[in-house]
Amino acid sequence: SPGENSKGITTTCCYCGVGCGIEVAKDKLGRVIVKGNENHSVNKGMLCSKGMNLHYTVNDTSDRLLYPEMRYARNQPRRRVSWDAALERTAAVFKTFIEKYGPDSVAFYASGQCLTEEYYVVNKLIKGFIGSNNIDTNSRLCMSSAVVGYKMSLGEDSVPVSYDDLEIADVIFVAGANPAWCHPILWRRVEAAREKNPQLKIIVSDPRKTQTCSAANVHLQLNPGTDITLHHAIGRALIENGDINSDFVKQHTEGFEKYRDIVFERTVAEAAAICGVEEALIWEAASYIGNARGFITMWTMGLNQSVVGVNKNLSLINLNLITGHIGKPGSGPLSLTGQPNAMGGREVGGLSNLLPAHRDLTNEQHRAEVEAFWGVPKGRIPAKPGLTATEMFEALEDGRLKAIWILCTNPLISLPDVRRAEAALKKAKFVVVQEVSNKPETLQYADVIFPAAAWTEKEGTMTNAERRVSYLNKITAAPGEALPDAEIICRFAQKMGFAGFDYSNAAEIFAEHAALTRGTNIDMSALNYSILKEKLTVQWPYTDVHAKAQNDDEASLGTKRLFADRQFYTTSKKAIIHSFEDVNKSEALSADFPLILTTGRIRDQWHTMSKTGKVNKLKQHISAAFLEIHPDDALQRGIRENALVVIKSRRGEVQVKAKLSGDIKKGVVFLPMHWGKVLNSDLNRANNVTNNLLDPKSKEPDFKFTAVEVSPF
Ligand code: SF4
Repeated sequence: SPGENSKGITTTCCYCGVGCGIEVAKDKLGRVIVKGNENHSVNKGMLCSKGMNLHYTVNDTSDRLLYPEMRYARNQPRRRVSWDAALERTAAVFKTFIEKYGPDSVAFYASGQCLTEEYYVVNKLIKGFIGSNNIDTNSRLCMSSAVVGYKMSLGEDSVPVSYDDLEIADVIFVAGANPAWCHPILWRRVEAAREKNPQLKIIVSDPRKTQTCSAANVHLQLNPGTDITLHHAIGRALIENGDINSDFVKQHTEGFEKYRDIVFERTVAEAAAICGVEEALIWEAASYIGNARGFITMWTMGLNQSVVGVNKNLSLINLNLITGHIGKPGSGPLSLTGQPNAMGGREVGGLSNLLPAHRDLTNEQHRAEVEAFWGVPKGRIPAKPGLTATEMFEALEDGRLKAIWILCTNPLISLPDVRRAEAALKKAKFVVVQEVSNKPETLQYADVIFPAAAWTEKEGTMTNAERRVSYLNKITAAPGEALPDAEIICRFAQKMGFAGFDYSNAAEIFAEHAALTRGTNIDMSALNYSILKEKLTVQWPYTDVHAKAQNDDEASLGTKRLFADRQFYTTSKKAIIHSFEDVNKSEALSADFPLILTTGRIRDQWHTMSKTGKVNKLKQHISAAFLEIHPDDALQRGIRENALVVIKSRRGEVQVKAKLSGDIKKGVVFLPMHWGKVLNSDLNRANNVTNNLLDPKSKEPDFKFTAVEVSPF
């Protein structure tokens, strides 16, 4: 941590969506040092293992891309070129494709790590100026089911609660998440709340007994893919026990009768058998929820990354709605975000089916508002959604898409059925990679490489999982000729001949984004960098009312909780209780592929390891990819602890060492998703075997359910 006299500059952690505040200082040798910001409302000085080792990623620049590179043919080596040369050629190639094949022949694939300002300019460029909606991000792989779930049930993609609500809840239901490892500081706050209030009940549903389960009163160790059955069974038990809030349901929701009919189609005992959990545990969970004064549902990839991800979200949010636990202290749904700025990206409309400030792409008036604001001709923004993450790679494969610009993400580890994505990228006519590190697998396919500035080397903002906007300072100089991502995009837009990208700094981009939110449900038009620097963070909506509030007034920090007035963002102002058939649409198991593979994260690595993989300390926890398998499944296959095993699916294979554990459900195996190529072998890569099935509404892949077989090597 910084020495006594060093004064830290404040910023925000660039890893997970918890959004911890960090102070960055320099030691006597000029090396960056970090510590948790004690004045930050999210973490109050705490940092997890990833956050507290961030300085290693800043001080080690050995893997950094320093200069633009370019090549004219794939069989040629790339050569260092000037920024002007690289941008001019890229603009010329994009113009040629757009003229010849139309605007939809190009696409941008971005990231939930992008700062809001970066997202904003990429989205403005492609939608408003190029005239295509072909922008998607890796948030599609992470949060898109929650986005649709919120829109369908509450009328808009809006997380109603604050983290502070976790500290006043009586019951927290963690569904398909392991926050003890993946959102550690938030979980530390839950543990501290439990220490203060031993009556706080924690329910966890997960096919694996994770670290989070050690705090659980009830662990519902369900079969993968049975979440909706479980949520419906809890709903039925709540109704049977008379523990729903009838007044709230009657006055503020729609759809309850149909929901009741559907959840009563199956008894709790029948549901328990399908889920593979004890019936008594479902009743116990329901009785905790039924007696709660404050009830929070909390979830992440276990629900989102599913072929029925939206319905899983809706079935969980229904539990808040039927009990009236929303819009009041200690109550509501809280989707956890994997990436630091997935929410900021959604605010600016940075997905292929969104518009800025949660406007609706299919709404003609909304498109016209954005077009007028950007000063582009009416009708420029197409009504048809663009290609989503996996669809972009399918379009590269079949030739519809000619050029792809990949920024701030490594799809050749993170996409499902990744070998197919790799083959598609090989076929692309033109690939631009905008990157910090020289490691990602995508670089070998790049025709142009743009070196990007990293964390601490640029300023901007991010929004965490509780609608909290935080400012990130520029603290260190970028190495070589690396530039901030927003500046790269703006320089390119100018080379394309587009007006409206001549910002002199990130503050101007933020001001434009904030102005575009005026009058919407995420109104932050009164927010600017000066306020963020003074207050560190605020939660949207943040309007003139908040800006004028006295500093000791809670309103001065924005909006802590949504829907306190029970007015939802739907047309009827009522929340919608959705009902749907409960069918598992995942890949079928068979005699050849009888096990269910679920992929996920480990405590000390983050995403595709381009940053955490540089930190030796973080490898001490778990140093290599592994397969977690139940001892009975291992015995049946002659697999011993630490032996090399082959995991095969209908698409490919992975080879890693086995870790036998009674903590995973029989019939289920687990692979971490972080590893890509190790010593030139891609056999550690979990996504060699995963499948391309998508939720039909959110287009989020089914990472949590792949049919596989495992055998000794
Ligand atoms: Fe960073 Fe998330 Fe850890 Fe906080 S919990 S320090 S945001 S990785």
